[in-house]
Amino acid sequence: MNKDRQKKDERFQSMSYEDEISHLKQEIERLRSELSEARGRTVEPASNGSGGASAEAADLPGSFAEYDIALKRLVQRTAMIVQAEKCVIMVRDKETGDLQARSPAWGMTDEQVFGYRIPVENGFSGEVFRASQSQILVNAIHDRRAAEENLQAYGVRNSVTVPLLVEKHDENNRVVEQSTIGVLHCFNKRFGGEFVDEDVRLLERLARNAAAVISNAIMYQEVMEEKQKLVQTLESLASGLILVNQKGNIAQINASARKMFHLDASANPVDKPYAEILQHEACSQIMRRAIDDCLNPEAAAKRLEQELHDGVQRPVEEITIVNEDEDAFIYQVLSAGVRDAASNLIGTVFIFNDITAIRHVERMKTEFVSIVSHELRTPLTPIKGFVRTLLDDENEEWYAREDRREFYIIIEQQVDRLNRLISDLLNVARIERGAGIEMNWQQVNIRNAANSVIETQEARSDKHTLTIDFEPDTFEAESDPDIIQNILHNLVSNAIKYSEGGEVRIIGRLEEPAEEYPDGSVLMGVKDNGIGLSEGDVKKIGEKFFRSSNKQARAVGGTGLGLFLVKSLVAAHHGVMWVESELGKGSTFWFRLPAKQPKQAEENTENKDVSAS
Ligand code: ADP
Repeated sequence: MNKDRQKKDERFQSMSYEDEISHLKQEIERLRSELSEARGRTVEPASNGSGGASAEAADLPGSFAEYDIALKRLVQRTAMIVQAEKCVIMVRDKETGDLQARSPAWGMTDEQVFGYRIPVENGFSGEVFRASQSQILVNAIHDRRAAEENLQAYGVRNSVTVPLLVEKHDENNRVVEQSTIGVLHCFNKRFGGEFVDEDVRLLERLARNAAAVISNAIMYQEVMEEKQKLVQTLESLASGLILVNQKGNIAQINASARKMFHLDASANPVDKPYAEILQHEACSQIMRRAIDDCLNPEAAAKRLEQELHDGVQRPVEEITIVNEDEDAFIYQVLSAGVRDAASNLIGTVFIFNDITAIRHVERMKTEFVSIVSHELRTPLTPIKGFVRTLLDDENEEWYAREDRREFYIIIEQQVDRLNRLISDLLNVARIERGAGIEMNWQQVNIRNAANSVIETQEARSDKHTLTIDFEPDTFEAESDPDIIQNILHNLVSNAIKYSEGGEVRIIGRLEEPAEEYPDGSVLMGVKDNGIGLSEGDVKKIGEKFFRSSNKQARAVGGTGLGLFLVKSLVAAHHGVMWVESELGKGSTFWFRLPAKQPKQAEENTENKDVSAS
């Protein structure tokens, strides 16, 4: 035993038990008031100044730590009073029904405390708990009940154990309810002695006072744990969450909200005005209005009533935040007043839901309807015009045979255009449904496919020169002859559409095996000297309905479906597509396919449709 400990023990021995108990009672009283104060504090919004809700979860408030110290003192003093080597509190776990030792304990490690658990039906602890009767265990080494809870493993020789009784009193201080919440153990009488009835009496007196504090402490601990869980839940919410207190300062802000507003990890937004931290005027305005509404609910209700009466539909509160990459994100802002148990307003909570994708789809739908209507009407106008002209010339007086033939050719071309558009739409719908693209896999001569595309496309323009640049001159790959032609048709057609003239080159290379393509690959490109694409547009290539906002591109009709289909068809080959482009200079649309397909067997079972376009 070290000297300090010996001195302390001597001091304790020299104090009378009565002194000690009154000392301890004072301590318990202090604890009681500390506890009710601390419990009052738990309803306050978190603000420990550490920048975020997660930081709070890691760092318990001071009162909790103080409480822990006070309990530690309690077990230590109890051990001293009955001259025990160890003192530990066991409490019945509500969920499992077991008696579980709780820290802090005296003379036991945290690990030992954590591992000390016993069902109430068993052991010495269980017996004291069930009977609510104190007991002395004289010889733990040879006791069955002690063995059941493995007391020997903790070096226990003997014990005095009392139940922890919590009593409820009426206004006349009569006990109206009594319950046992656990047991208090003092193990191993010092100096080789044995526990006696006097120890039981002392411990019972102590336990009566201590039980209430312990039960409150446990409740407090539970409240804190619940609070931590809540904070962690809020922290991991995908939606942004900001709680603004009555002073207009941020009381809580979760990780998503910090990310949304690009708040530095080192910045500490808690307790600072929201407008200053968020630096977003539109958002601050929405928040200001919501806070005003919470503060003046009557005025807000009146206004709402008036709006309903006038048939005014309030716009959904939305904000747009642009990130460093210039991508815009749209958030819906929802708010609600937060009240404490006494219904006093303690702040306003804001939830930010990312609705970028929803808005994008809505915009796409609107654009789609207008684009498709336009694209459907465009071929209909010449069809109707030429049919009318032919009908009017019933007797074939005005137009020669060749003229009429030309009209029929134009009508046929426009009908083909309509047909292509409709099959593009059907194919997109099919891909969207996840119905897959059935491939008629075979060894396809890619050079022949390119030649055939050039032959068809050449007739479309006399301003463009279509060339082929293959290395080696001809090669094969495992593909579907219709689908590879469809891909090339789309790309060559775009190259012609989006350039005023000049060369359109189909590049083909057979490449050596590499890590990703163990059987070699086919690299294909369609190069033009046209209007090109901006960096931002290049990123969006292949997105459904994407059309560049560039004026020159907009002047040409289109649906924004062609490249989406190309990308899907290339992916059906287990290949990739990408674009190299410079605004005003031209573009090359590249794609790479494996020379041999990796999982041919599986794909062959799928349905085929897409090649029809
Ligand atoms: P569409 O041509 O029917 O609009 P696509 O999906 O084929 O649809 O092309 C999408 C968009 O990509 C086009 O609207 C155009 O802005 C751009 N684009 C496609 N090909 C080229 C090209 N060769 N040069 C420049 N821009 C192109």
